[in-house]
This record gives sequence, C-alpha cells and structure tokens, in this order.
Amino acid sequence: MLMRRLFLYLSQAKWARFLVTHFFLARRMARRFVAGETLDEAIAVSKALNTAGLSVTLDYLGESVTHADETVAVRKMYLELLENIHKNGLNASISLKLTHMGLDIGEELCVSNLRHILNSAKSYRIPVTIDMEGSAYTDVTLRLYRTLRDEYEFGRLIGTVIQSMLYRSMDDMRQLAQEGARIRLVKGAYLEPESIAHPQKADVDNAYIAIMRDYFAHTPPAYLELGTHDEKMISQAIAIAGENGVDNSHYEIQMLYGIRRERQIELANAGIQTRVYVPFGEAWYPYFMRRLAERPANVWFLMRSVFRK
Ligand SMILES: Cc1cc2nc3c(=O)[nH]c(=O)nc-3n(C[C@H](O)[C@H](O)[C@H](O)COP(=O)(O)OP(=O)(O)OC[C@H]3O[C@@H](n4cnc5c(N)ncnc54)[C@H](O)[C@@H]3O)c2cc1C
Repeated sequence: MLMRRLFLYLSQAKWARFLVTHFFLARRMARRFVAGETLDEAIAVSKALNTAGLSVTLDYLGESVTHADETVAVRKMYLELLENIHKNGLNASISLKLTHMGLDIGEELCVSNLRHILNSAKSYRIPVTIDMEGSAYTDVTLRLYRTLRDEYEFGRLIGTVIQSMLYRSMDDMRQLAQEGARIRLVKGAYLEPESIAHPQKADVDNAYIAIMRDYFAHTPPAYLELGTHDEKMISQAIAIAGENGVDNSHYEIQMLYGIRRERQIELANAGIQTRVYVPFGEAWYPYFMRRLAERPANVWFLMRSVFRK
C-alpha cells in the first residue's frame, strides 16, 4: 500500500519525471510496457499482436496538457494513427484521455479535438474509448461520452470506462447498462480519498465482481470489456457470463501490453475475445509509474530482465 502511494506520488512529481526519463535504464525498463516512442513502432507491435489472435487498442501516451498548441499535435497524431490502422487493416480500436485533448484548458477545445478524431474514426468504423482519469473527471467524462455517443449515433463504437474503486460506480454502471453502453470495467489506477473510494483492495475486488454480475444480468446484455490482469476477476467473468447465458460475443478481456503475455494468448486460443492495450509515445513516464504502483515487484522483475540482456 505504501509503495503504491509512493509510485502514484512519483507519477505526478516533476523532479522525478526529469530524473527517470533521463535515466537510460528506466527507458529500457519502460519498453516492457510501452510499444515504442513512434507510431511506426506501435503499428508493428499491433500487427504482431493481431497475428497472435489478439485485438488491440492503441493509446497515444499523454495527459494533463496545458497549452492549446500541444493538443493540435495530439489530435494530428490520433488522426495519423486512425489512418494507419485503416491502411494496415488492423484489428484495432483507439483509447484516449480527455486531459490529453485539452480538457484542463477548456471543454470547448477538448470537444473540438474529439470531434475531429470521431469524424475520422466514424468514417473508418474504428471504435474509440474515452479512458477514465482521476475522480475530478468522472462527471465530465460521462457527460461528454453520452453527448458525443448520441451526437455521432456511433452506437457501441464509442465507449468509456468505469472504476470499481469508486462508491458511485454501481449506480453509474446500472444506468449505462440500461443505455446499452459499451463499457470497460477496471479497478481504478488513481489515488482517491476514502470519502469517495474503497480504501481496501479486497473491497475494490468485491465491487468489481458485484458490478460485473449486475451488468451481465441486464437483459439484453450490453458489451462489457473487463480490463484486468487478475485471474480471479477473469475466471469470475467467464463463469458469470456463462450463468447468465451471455455468449462470448458480448464481452472481452483486456490487458495491458507487456503484462501476462502468455495468458493473453491462452485466452484468445480458448475462444475468449482478448484485447491488448498498447500505449506508445514519448510521454510514457506517468503511465509507467502507475504500472509500478500496481505491482512494485515489477521494479525488481524489470531490473533483472534489463541486466540479463
Ligand atoms: C486494458 C486496461 C485499460 C485500463 N484503463 C484504465 C482507465 O481508463 N482508467 C483507470 O483508472 N485505470 C485503467 N486501467 C488500470 C486498472 O484500473 C488497474 O489499475 C490495473 O489494471 C491493475 O488492476 P488489475 O485488476 O489488473 O490487478 P491487481 O488488482 O493490480 O492485481 C491482481 C492480480 O493480478 C495479477 N497481476 C496484476 N499485475 C500483474 C503483472 N504486472 N504481472 C503479472 N500478474 C499481474 C496478479 O496475480 C495480481 O495479484 C486499465 C487496465 C487495463 C488492463
């Protein structure tokens, strides 16, 4: 718990970001979780994953952008990404963060950037998922998700994310299930106060299962994406779907690039739709720190693998 808090603190600290990103060993370690710094590297990784029977969702790394000019470059990269997914015939969707689209600068700017991306995504019929950030953004994310989903009549091609750690999530999910929404359910990667989020991991896990159970019981079941590496969550998902007569086409398991690689392939081979979240780009630092926060043992694991090379 202490290590988790430490890494989450470091993920936001400018001094630590400078030190780590200029330290070549850290860059090498990050490569385990990040497909590369360029679009070409991300496309090559995605092709290999597709060949192994896994679909992907590509994320251009970055968040909390504070200058409008930067968002133009982000938008441009996403447009290039969509074009490349289409050109290469990849089985891929995209994931993005509202603060990367300029939400902290202004909602109008953020929505304008999103519309450019959604126009292109819609023309190629490439699904878009709006990632969920810290709790300060929950309401605005759900509101913008609903507005754009309805505006684009993009059906389940636009989705968003719910975090089981938040007390509010069962209610949010019920509402979304009724709307037939495509939702990624995760535990939540941000440091949140006890007043709004379960402080104990066991409660976050129990909430995850309860929310998933409720969603699958909804008739007809909407499309659920289980973003987790936790075997308990995965086996429960498959069991609960089975109990409710929900077939494999209504859900998928999602894992992050570089985590439990063998299990990803095994699930796909067993006929469970499995998608890998593939991040790329130069701004890998906060993403990398959140991965270390989830599993501090990764620090030693990564160091060993770097020194063994
Ligand atoms: C596809 C995807 C998208 C996500 N999107 C978001 C988002 O939009 N917003 C957000 O807040 N969070 C997001 N997350 C992160 C999520 O909230 C969790 O922080 C993260 O997935 C860790 O929780 P967990 O369920 O995977 O497992 P944990 O509860 O961290 O761990 C449970 C068990 O899983 C296994 N495990 C976990 N990590 C590893 C590892 N590195 N290697 C081997 N085994 C491991 C171990 O057995 C471990 O005991 C996303 C996660 C995924 C997979």
